[in-house]
Amino acid sequence: MAKIAIGAGHGYNTPGKRTPDGEREWSFNDKVVTAAIDELKNYENAEVLRLDDRTGKTDVSLSTRTTAANNFDADILISYHHNANTGNWGSWGGTETYHYPGSSGGSALAREFHPVIVDAMQLRDRGIKTANFHMLRESAMPAILIEGGFMDSTTDIKRMRSNSVLKQTGKDLAKAIAEYFNLKRKSSGGGGSKEYVEIITHSLWTYNSADWDDKAVIVNEGEVFTVIRDKFKVGGGYMYQIKSGLYITANPKYVRYYKG
Ligand SMILES: [Zn+2]
Repeated sequence: MAKIAIGAGHGYNTPGKRTPDGEREWSFNDKVVTAAIDELKNYENAEVLRLDDRTGKTDVSLSTRTTAANNFDADILISYHHNANTGNWGSWGGTETYHYPGSSGGSALAREFHPVIVDAMQLRDRGIKTANFHMLRESAMPAILIEGGFMDSTTDIKRMRSNSVLKQTGKDLAKAIAEYFNLKRKSSGGGGSKEYVEIITHSLWTYNSADWDDKAVIVNEGEVFTVIRDKFKVGGGYMYQIKSGLYITANPKYVRYYKG
């Protein structure tokens, strides 16, 4: 069992923590942390404790956060933030990761996860640093504090305003956490191996529901879809349900079914 304590710091309304245009730091942090937690649900034996208020309404105190992580007996702690320099727009920027001075566990975590964030954010690499922050000092487990980018950077803010960038960063962080703990990805269905259909006719309709009249979109020869519901009878024929939620004929004249 891997126990992960993760937090987006602060609260939505914490004074100061905003861009020169008034966007809130917590909102940026939250997108990364929420995506990371969602992605970790795809792994076995991952137990996650979120340290901040997921609604953003309250600013959970630093000592409440570290006490919660310690009581949870977390294996690692990740505090996710975005930086600020002067509070006015400037040309500085970049990603940096902190651990407590002299903490070998924290240092190892930073070396593991900092490059992942740099890679995902595509901002300047400001490196791994040490600081006597409460979250790093008072937590009993290896802990890092990540600053994904600068809220008052004219370059960084462009990446930070992209929901897909923040979401992908969280997902990449979760994958790195899973790798760190050697967690196994949950299998999507029974039996372990996935089932697929490949289109073997020129083009073919899919259906919005299990109804031959409820046509959705056309798919083409060579396209492959993951089957999420095995062949079942619909009217005079058979259908599969595929991963997008759509339905498709199970007639072997048009589709080839296989396990992979
Ligand atoms: Zn912060």
